[in-house]
Amino acid sequence: MCNSSRSHEGEGSINNKTNHLHAQVLLIDDQRTIIKGIELLLSHAFDINLHTCSDPAKALETAKHVGPTVVLLDIQMPDIDGFAVLEQFRADPSICDVPVIMLSANEDPETKAKAFTLGADDYLIKAPEKIELIARIRYHSKAYINNLERQSAYQELEENRMKLEAAVLELERLSTLDGLTKIYNRRHFDTTMLREWGRAKRESTPISLIMIDIDHFKQYNDHYGHLEGDSCLIQVAQMLANKLKRSTDHVARYGGEEFIVTLPSTNAKEAAPVAERLRQSITDLALQHANSETGDIVTISLGVSSCVPEYSEKYESLIATADQALYQAKKQGRNRVVTLSKTDKATLSDHDILPGS
Ligand code: GH3
Ligand code: MG
Ligand code: MG
Repeated sequence: MCNSSRSHEGEGSINNKTNHLHAQVLLIDDQRTIIKGIELLLSHAFDINLHTCSDPAKALETAKHVGPTVVLLDIQMPDIDGFAVLEQFRADPSICDVPVIMLSANEDPETKAKAFTLGADDYLIKAPEKIELIARIRYHSKAYINNLERQSAYQELEENRMKLEAAVLELERLSTLDGLTKIYNRRHFDTTMLREWGRAKRESTPISLIMIDIDHFKQYNDHYGHLEGDSCLIQVAQMLANKLKRSTDHVARYGGEEFIVTLPSTNAKEAAPVAERLRQSITDLALQHANSETGDIVTISLGVSSCVPEYSEKYESLIATADQALYQAKKQGRNRVVTLSKTDKATLSDHDILPGS
């Protein structure tokens, strides 16, 4: 029933790139003489591969197999006429865009109108002139192939755009994280703190900071080595991150073995228990620290400071107070929480103030 001439490897695929300059013509006609005639007309057009189908019932199946770039479709056929085949093609998503040239002995305007209404792209009277047939096949096939290539290029472009977008998002996410501990980094703390400080000012709400420093960490490194030190930092950081409950609470690695916790909408009375919970969580980790002067496990010291920021105040003042509280916690024996207010800080003696704070 179905034949192809000058067929070569892979021609069945619509998206076949190696064969993309050749028109793949599928001729659907029940009359052998017409098929022979068209074969003859196209026999010297080496850029045209002709496939034929004489059974209209098998037209759709054959088209799916061949992957035509243009279809020549007879109108008058037994059982299923060309209009019915055309409707089948237009309803099938894999074939619906392939150009269809109707072949008919009938020149009356109503038949032509029906063909175009059903989605035909062209209309040729049998038997067509060789030059006209070849020209129309080339024209429709080229337009179809160009369209496929445009679609494929657009799809590739769209895929690349989506990949790029995902890569940029991932890069943005990574740029907010500390490479070692995978919690937020100092830069992200600065951005978040600036935003939350502004909000606290506008809404006259309290904000708290907790500065955290691992006790005797230099001795930890000296005793266990730098790699174990890194592992300890990771475990402490992850524990601190896991212990924060509110979605707005935020812990970042501030530097070396120091961490900073931001607690928006939290006053001093509420922040101290949070700090105590964090301290407890690290002692619960029970990481051996054989060389610590504070005990035999890793501990942290914490400095808490809170305020409702004033109009012209900068958040660095709150960091300085929390830093001062941390210094006091170290001084008082480590593994503890000290809370300081701005007024407490002001009353500390010069001896108690850290250089640079
Ligand atoms: P203190 O209780 O007073 O805080 O004493 P300390 O020994 O913890 O403080 P010090 O500032 O003397 O030492 C901090 C140590 O933290 C020294 C430094 O090598 C170590 N450290 C900083 N960053 C890293 C890191 O990324 N990995 C490792 N393994 N160690 C680090
Ligand atoms: Mg330190
Ligand atoms: Mg330390």
